[in-house]
Amino acid sequence: MRILIVEDEVRLADTLRRLLHRGGYSADVCHDGAEGLDNALSGIYDLLVLDVMLPKMDGLTLLRTLRSHGNTVPVLMLTAKGELQDRVAGLDSGADYYLTKPFEGEELLACVRSLLRRGEGTASGALRWEDLSLEQGTFSLVCGERSVRLSRKEYDLMALLLQNGQQVVSKEQLLVKVWGYDSAAEENSVEVYISFLRRKLSHLHSRVRITTRRMVGYCLEVGE
Ligand code: CA
Repeated sequence: MRILIVEDEVRLADTLRRLLHRGGYSADVCHDGAEGLDNALSGIYDLLVLDVMLPKMDGLTLLRTLRSHGNTVPVLMLTAKGELQDRVAGLDSGADYYLTKPFEGEELLACVRSLLRRGEGTASGALRWEDLSLEQGTFSLVCGERSVRLSRKEYDLMALLLQNGQQVVSKEQLLVKVWGYDSAAEENSVEVYISFLRRKLSHLHSRVRITTRRMVGYCLEVGE
């Protein structure tokens, strides 16, 4: 389990990181919102611990932007004492839970455990191909011990690729099936999402590669 902490108070961020390590999680820290968003969009995190007041981009904007990209990672917001507006805005922006500063370490760990459990959900089925398994209930792509959470579009794309395996799927097919006929999305949207999926496959250390067939589309291949 990998957690991203976005918190500009360096000492607090460090305390959180050490606390999460003790709880058995890997944790990375970003000290501003812009870097936080960039890292969160990589999709390699199972949970975000997000402060509201941040330099470069505030936590609420970060969260709304993340959700607008279809990213469903659980988010635990840290809000300042008494700022009801922050808490309401946080939940409205797509936060899963909030903690009011100051909080006890044990309280934070309990929230983290609860949010991660919720994220596991109840998988109703999985689509498998080679060393990969795509879990329907949780939007997770799993390879051995590693797993990453996919956004809705990434999930739909990956499902189509796994269903077709080594058979080529055209960009038009992917565009229509994932974005719909009426969508304003263009073929380069497909390219962008394929590049997200490639990053995730490499993070998973999967042997499966998404191969581009020039002028035709994409298919899966198994490397060494
Ligand atoms: Ca702050």
